[in-house]
Amino acid sequence: MLTTNSVASVLRTDRMLRQIVDIQIKCEPKEPKGGLPMNRSVSVTILILGLIIFVIACSSTQPFAPKQGLYYVKESGGVKFHVYTSPIQSGASASVVIETQNSLILQDVQQDKSQMDDLKSLIQSIGKPLRRIYISHEHSHHWAGLEMFPGIPVYANQTTIDFMKQNGQEELNTLKSQYGAEAVPYTQVVVPENVVEAGSEEVIDGVRFVFSSPAPQLTGPVIFMEFPDQKVMIMHHLAYVGVHVPLPPVEERLAKLNEMKEKDWVWVIGGHGIPVSGPEYFSKTIDYYTILGNVIKESPDAATAKDKMIEAYPNYGGVVLLDLLLPGFYQQ
Ligand SMILES: [Zn+2]
Ligand SMILES: [Zn+2]
Repeated sequence: MLTTNSVASVLRTDRMLRQIVDIQIKCEPKEPKGGLPMNRSVSVTILILGLIIFVIACSSTQPFAPKQGLYYVKESGGVKFHVYTSPIQSGASASVVIETQNSLILQDVQQDKSQMDDLKSLIQSIGKPLRRIYISHEHSHHWAGLEMFPGIPVYANQTTIDFMKQNGQEELNTLKSQYGAEAVPYTQVVVPENVVEAGSEEVIDGVRFVFSSPAPQLTGPVIFMEFPDQKVMIMHHLAYVGVHVPLPPVEERLAKLNEMKEKDWVWVIGGHGIPVSGPEYFSKTIDYYTILGNVIKESPDAATAKDKMIEAYPNYGGVVLLDLLLPGFYQQ
């Protein structure tokens, strides 16, 4: 991946090399005749070149390689969308870094400290200032650890802010007891101080951000981010690719997905799972919910339905969510 910084480094190196060649050419006539001084001049040049390359290699930003989770990146309409997720098995919780010309905007952080460190390395590797953090909704695995980004303005909808004020500390304590203090070492609940409303729009660093919630009856009060000029969308709680998050009601969800697939999204990023092109996102999620609907109809109980979903999607992560969510389909 060639970042603006690495391009600048290459240009800098190229300029320095040309200057050295110029110096070399200018110096040559002054060298006395004979082999040894010329050899010495070549050696000195090679040594200087080596030193410069070493210094640039040490000081320039390195391309990001995740230690634990998964990393995807796509450029569209002059904006780069970096997606870091926790490992697929643990639900592939996504953090999205939106890279505009001069700055970075982050949506959602990582609950696990090692994965948070990965996310911070990704931000550092891009080498632009982080300007804002948006929290998509109230679920703690998307906001725990905000204290790792001191001084960065945090935005969320009013429901998320109220929930975090009232229940944040208890939620954080629950995460700690569930995953251990090493994975969740955070002590503070950083309540977002800025409200973002569904239906609002803002231009940040020349890029149009549309904050929407197109199906709150299915998703709850979550914030989707749409980038109409880049044809990219970040969605939550509707349907995911690569992970099991079976959510009722199936028919209404299928109707909404069929309606949303009409737009020509270049990339759709789920709050969990694998980001893919719009057509692939909608065909895969429509297939998933069609199969889920049939499995629920054919299975007498949640345990049978779980086996059938694993058989249909052997590579999907978040199997634990089948245990948590499938019983809900049998409680009517
Ligand atoms: Zn989530
Ligand atoms: Zn959630």
